[in-house]
Amino acid sequence: MEDCIFCKIIKGEIPTDFVYQDDDFVVFKDINPKAPVHLLIVTKKHLPSLNGATKEDQALLGKGLLISKKIAKKEGIREDGYRIGINVGKGGGQDIFHLHIHLLGGWRDKKAIS
Ligand code: AMP
Ligand code: ZN
Repeated sequence: MEDCIFCKIIKGEIPTDFVYQDDDFVVFKDINPKAPVHLLIVTKKHLPSLNGATKEDQALLGKGLLISKKIAKKEGIREDGYRIGINVGKGGGQDIFHLHIHLLGGWRDKKAIS
């Protein structure tokens, strides 16, 4: 989608360091972190929100959760624990209408601060 900031990041139009990427997802640091570790797991497919997801997206959504776990390990927060979340719609606090999972943690482990 042309006006979508996350699509621009995925296409490389906004230079962003990816912590991880594969055929379906990119992962990068949130620009305004709400925790010592705050990453966004973002589908390459432009889905405006979880509300727009269908059965066709089932495997993609499951994959996003497993990637979140993998990234939590990479960031050194898996054992201590972390939070994942998806804001859905304006009332759910969603600002960017391109599906993404928030991964937050590192509150108790100074080593995790990056
Ligand atoms: P949400 O409110 O769930 O839509 O979350 C959007 C998140 O994207 C917010 O936490 C923002 O801080 C973050 N964000 C916005 N623009 C960028 C950007 N260019 N790079 C990284 N994170 C961003
Ligand atoms: Zn998009």
